[in-house]
Amino acid sequence: MARRRGKVLGTALCGVALAAALVWWRSSPAEPPSIVLVSIDTLRPDHLGCYGYSRNTSPALDRLAREGARFKTAVSSTSWTLPAHAALFTGLPDRVHGCGNEQRWLDRSRFTLAEALQQAGYHTAGFYSGPLLHRYFGLSQGFDSWTECTSYREQIDRMIREWRYDPRIEEQAFRDVTNPIVLAAVRAWIESAPRRPFFLFIHLWDVHHDYIPPPPYDALFREGTTARPGDGSREDLISRYDGEIRWTDATLAAIFEALDRRGLKDRSILLVTADHGEAFFEHGHHGHRFTLHDEEVRVPLLVRYPGRLPAGLCIEPPVSLIDIAPTLLDLAGLPPLPAALGRSLVPLLEAAGTSATWKERPAISEFRDHRQMLALRLERWKLIADLTSGTVQVYDLERDPGEHSPLGAADPSVPAAALAAHWERTVRQLDAAAARLPVPQTRDWTGLPEVHRRHLRSLGYLR
Ligand SMILES: [Zn+2]
Repeated sequence: MARRRGKVLGTALCGVALAAALVWWRSSPAEPPSIVLVSIDTLRPDHLGCYGYSRNTSPALDRLAREGARFKTAVSSTSWTLPAHAALFTGLPDRVHGCGNEQRWLDRSRFTLAEALQQAGYHTAGFYSGPLLHRYFGLSQGFDSWTECTSYREQIDRMIREWRYDPRIEEQAFRDVTNPIVLAAVRAWIESAPRRPFFLFIHLWDVHHDYIPPPPYDALFREGTTARPGDGSREDLISRYDGEIRWTDATLAAIFEALDRRGLKDRSILLVTADHGEAFFEHGHHGHRFTLHDEEVRVPLLVRYPGRLPAGLCIEPPVSLIDIAPTLLDLAGLPPLPAALGRSLVPLLEAAGTSATWKERPAISEFRDHRQMLALRLERWKLIADLTSGTVQVYDLERDPGEHSPLGAADPSVPAAALAAHWERTVRQLDAAAARLPVPQTRDWTGLPEVHRRHLRSLGYLR
């Protein structure tokens, strides 16, 4: 197919003027590119060098950011693993994909990125290392292979077979050490990767609580802290969290190297993100799945695709996790997911983040758990509505990036009419999408392994 070349003027790098002009190569290779999508569980962007962190936690990710595009503000659909990954794969907000607290699986009627790529002839392979990505929860839809990299496979399989939740799984997951298992499995896969385009999904878990990096990463960021190892202080937790990030970054570097050795790195789209962040007592909590504040819902978003994306781009407008699947399909030259509410970020990338035609739209985060909450994130403003208590908080992120001083509706600086319009539009859009795509109340079990189906039949769940 012919190669077309386009040109776009850009000023980016977050305020620092980039080169006067960026040459945009719009290539249409004969074969669609392979795609590598990495989700690093619980990774806060502000703990990465490329997002301005002072500690050297992320040399490999910093390099990726230098060689590709970095989205300054990417926002997850929520603050916990399962619905966030469902949003990542479907391009749908939590309320519409329906996978979360009320229904703990992604229904088979939902169409995923992996299914779209599989239908387009891609070989699709997933590797995961946390319990909520088990095949049971439906995130493996569309993957030719879905490889478990935990060390408690037997227990989780038994739990599902016996139809009984075992809380010890969570403890096991927190303590689990999975980076070496993922690395070995992914390396072996890359070494025999098929020649045709592939979609490789990698979920890395070890940044997740309870932060037990191996030496030397456990002591790497202790210098200058007064915390004793394991004393549970904020300083101790953060130094160990940062150690996990550095270790995971080294794991990623080894994966990128394996791709490079086979000549696959430069021919593939590499995209790295996270499912949610992690709170370190900013609003009284440690962990996630408590609030929709930025420390819990902001995620990194880096994408590298040489030949198509210029290096060193920084994109300012807020974007959402639900935009990732549409963006990857667009970059690969494939049709969009028919029902996705996320939108392709390619126009924004093409315009180096400064597109006048890019219409600002709030990134939505939801909490559909013991509390019902909906947050709208704009470049400057953030609105968090607690639907359970009927309260609304508005934050001016320019003056209050930590979200500590909510402004009242009567505050003259609040653009109340504009926020109300965004709110109305968003709620209307969510309502319409949810009506179009109702979540079935009974589960379609056809994707389950036969052993599980036999057991469910014996319990009367299946005929
Ligand atoms: Zn998670």
